[in-house]
Amino acid sequence: MAETADVVIIGSGIVGSSVAYNLAQQGCTNVLVIEREAHQGKGSTGKSMGGVRAQFTTTVNIQMSIYSINFFATFDEVVGHPADYRAHGYLFCATTERHLDYLKTNRTLQQSLGLKNVELVSREDILGMVPQLKADDIIGGTYCNTDGFVDPHSVMMGFMLNARERGVRLWLDTEVTGIDVDNGRITGVQTSRGHVSTPVVVNAAGAWAAGVAKMAGAELPVEPLRRQLVPTEPFDGLPKRFPMVIDMSTGFHFRREGKGILLAWNDPEETPGFKTDFDNTFVEKILTRAAARVPCLADAAVNPRRAWAGLYEMTPDHHSIIGPAPNVKGLFFVNGFSGHGVMHSPASGRITADLVLSNHSDLVDAMQLSVERFKTGKLLHETAVL
Ligand SMILES: Cc1cc2nc3c(=O)[nH]c(=O)nc-3n(C[C@H](O)[C@H](O)[C@H](O)COP(=O)(O)OP(=O)(O)OC[C@H]3O[C@@H](n4cnc5c(N)ncnc54)[C@H](O)[C@@H]3O)c2cc1C
Repeated sequence: MAETADVVIIGSGIVGSSVAYNLAQQGCTNVLVIEREAHQGKGSTGKSMGGVRAQFTTTVNIQMSIYSINFFATFDEVVGHPADYRAHGYLFCATTERHLDYLKTNRTLQQSLGLKNVELVSREDILGMVPQLKADDIIGGTYCNTDGFVDPHSVMMGFMLNARERGVRLWLDTEVTGIDVDNGRITGVQTSRGHVSTPVVVNAAGAWAAGVAKMAGAELPVEPLRRQLVPTEPFDGLPKRFPMVIDMSTGFHFRREGKGILLAWNDPEETPGFKTDFDNTFVEKILTRAAARVPCLADAAVNPRRAWAGLYEMTPDHHSIIGPAPNVKGLFFVNGFSGHGVMHSPASGRITADLVLSNHSDLVDAMQLSVERFKTGKLLHETAVL
């Protein structure tokens, strides 16, 4: 019998899983999620640092974070599976007046949108949280105690398990190889398992989304950019619990991961492309920045074989693209999270389900996130990208 679905979602990472969950929540359960890998989480979701924060610079990103972090706080009860949300906070440390002014301006906007718990902190406050920092050049910062971390794999599985309990189907090991469009409308998808008839396709293909959009003849400005993370071996030179610390002078940031420390830094020399191999020369680059801000990290042992790389899915203005494709009726994008797809997954899934089912979302002004902004020039400009 020919396969049919009311909605086909391409990609079962954290974003596709959240869309499936939100559609099912709103009563749309004849949904088929198609994933080319044999297991979920093999794309960017399984490579993520799991950071969640509302300390952004644009209204829409702050709104999406506030909704999402509130959601993570009750995820276990609401979804029925654990998210492992840990509200350990994010601590931004400024070493220049320009950076401190930037944090103050952002805080004013964040507070006006309801995020009252973003605090301005002094060098002494910062040292109170992480005494091991070299802080002689730190002049202040901001701290938000509801920022923190989740376990991306658990969130993705929770969304998908809940959706499947409601009737959503998941095909693993199945690649979407083509999208059928007739008279400007979606009619189905071609897959390695055969044809599926559907009037609606949601592109949740992460860093591969531009290629999927092309299958339907649509343009999507999303490109892959490698990001690398380095975990240390067990290290007790830093507190057992402390916030994600962001050194604004270099962009180096770190948090505790189990018994070790997870080190992150976005190399400005990285160039776009599907590179997922870890570059061993990155270890020295990141350890130099780590030891400059946290001298005791010079003693931390690192095994490069435990380090990894994954892909950010970048857009020109570092904001996600959510909503219908302008020229292909029935095609929806939920792409281009530019490094924030885990933290924004509750909001992006909800907005997408709203748009698919009722053409409107009351969560945010979704028009701003439309792909058409790249034609009209109404870009959003997020600068707090880590
Ligand atoms: C090193 C690193 C650190 C990060 N840290 C953070 C962080 O701290 N906080 C945060 O919020 N975000 C972070 N991110 C970003 C975050 O991981 C991504 O934004 C998010 O995982 C995107 O989820 P997704 O579901 O859209 O994509 P993915 O997880 O990549 O899922 C897309 C899926 O689509 C499938 N697919 C693609 N093409 C096809 C096809 N033709 N047919 C069938 N299936 C297909 C892929 O196999 C994949 O499983 C980080 C990313 C990296 C790489």
